[in-house]
Amino acid sequence: MKPLTEREIRTAFVNCTKGEAKRLAVPRDLADRPWDDLDFLGWRDPRAPDRAYLATVLDGRPKALALRCPGSASWQTRRGMCSICLTGHTGGVSLMVAPKAGKAGQQGNSVGTYMCSDLSCSLYVRGRKETGAGARVHESITLEEKIRRTEANLAAFIAKVTA
Ligand SMILES: [Zn+2]
Repeated sequence: MKPLTEREIRTAFVNCTKGEAKRLAVPRDLADRPWDDLDFLGWRDPRAPDRAYLATVLDGRPKALALRCPGSASWQTRRGMCSICLTGHTGGVSLMVAPKAGKAGQQGNSVGTYMCSDLSCSLYVRGRKETGAGARVHESITLEEKIRRTEANLAAFIAKVTA
């Protein structure tokens, strides 16, 4: 994806208030991120481990989500598969809950999905990051297809949040 600036990321949030988007923790090392290998940028708030964020570009426009990880205390031991990149983990899948955009979110509605706890889906898909031993499922589809599938799953998740 094309590199995003802090300003682009902060203005791209669809499911939190403008004030929250202004204050939340955006990584300081944006210039050093491996943008060429990213379908989205995901990060956790170092001061609040139950908060995570992701930013991507959908139809040419930056979109970002604020996420909560309610089970952050136990995520290390959870087995499962990421619903975004379909990587299997012997540990390291978290339930990420996104408040819905707009009125629905203000009324407490949210959408949840199990996702790589470190939000590094793009790197797992490309084999740049490894999961625990034996967790890799052999698939006969190409890298290009896996990337497209990851993008489609992420777009579907964002669509649910903004619906
Ligand atoms: Zn993933």
